[in-house]
Amino acid sequence: MARTTPPRPVNMAEVFPELAGMTRTTTRLHPRRGDPTVERSSVGGPLLWPVEEPWPRCHDCHHNKYGFAPELTSLHEVRAARGLVTGEPSPLSAEDLETLRRSKEGVPVAEHALSPMPLLPVAQLYATEIPDLVCPPGADLLQVLWCPFDHEDDYTPNVWLYWRRAADIEHVLLEPPEPALVVDEEFVPHPCVLNPERIIEFPPLHLIPQNLAERIRHWEQERHMDYDDDLSIPPGWKVGGWESMWTFRDPIPLGCEQCGSDVEPLLMMEGGNFTPSWRAVEDNAELGEVPDGESHPGVRIGRGYTLQIYCCSRDRRHPCVTAMQ
Ligand SMILES: [Zn+2]
Ligand SMILES: [Zn+2]
Repeated sequence: MARTTPPRPVNMAEVFPELAGMTRTTTRLHPRRGDPTVERSSVGGPLLWPVEEPWPRCHDCHHNKYGFAPELTSLHEVRAARGLVTGEPSPLSAEDLETLRRSKEGVPVAEHALSPMPLLPVAQLYATEIPDLVCPPGADLLQVLWCPFDHEDDYTPNVWLYWRRAADIEHVLLEPPEPALVVDEEFVPHPCVLNPERIIEFPPLHLIPQNLAERIRHWEQERHMDYDDDLSIPPGWKVGGWESMWTFRDPIPLGCEQCGSDVEPLLMMEGGNFTPSWRAVEDNAELGEVPDGESHPGVRIGRGYTLQIYCCSRDRRHPCVTAMQ
């Protein structure tokens, strides 16, 4: 079903003509809970993964760095609580059972008990469906996977990108390995189908020349408008366009770890704080008062922040960079 973002209350390019040259297109994904298939774009859905390719695993330590013992949950328990379980759970290994049991007794998880951890599918994006998905040469499909734990560098899940040409995949891996145990069910997206919509957006204030940014701040106070929340970047999952604003900390300079080139925004994901003005016309009509959170992937980053995934501007196949913003 199409989703339509309501028009903004004012066109910023008319108020500040300098902004007219700074617009970008972005594709809002509008993920909604459903039953995605490997042939379509999705969040938290099955991947078109070639059967002959080993499933990736995270070898980082998944130890308790916070000084308290987070309780582990089995993926089966997470799905059962969501009413998504149809058959029997795949049996846990003796080692996982022991780790789970000790965790529920409050015993901190040993440093290497959860390594290597099979990755979890987060998103699958076909360029034919997502207009702002720019693929490296020869590719038309992006698969995003993560390790559903906090990791040391940024207290976020480790993210891996796989660029593919869909036509190259002859036989699909039907039952990929899964992490048997997770700490936080908010790192397990509900399966969602996508309803891509391309819109125009304006840059976040920190990327606007200071003099102009100050004039916008002054203007929004006078007019009781909110540039950050209502006039620049839409909330939620989106591809391309501008990076999200930085909310709880100042912007950090980022670059490609492989070649040092600049990075550019690829995928933004967010689970909380949906500004009502961006709610799609169809959602208002269909869902009425139902909160957005109940129909969305249910992913939560930190205290409801955004996870912005960037890729190298020179070669999109270089390892991605992520930032909680
Ligand atoms: Zn990991
Ligand atoms: Zn690079």
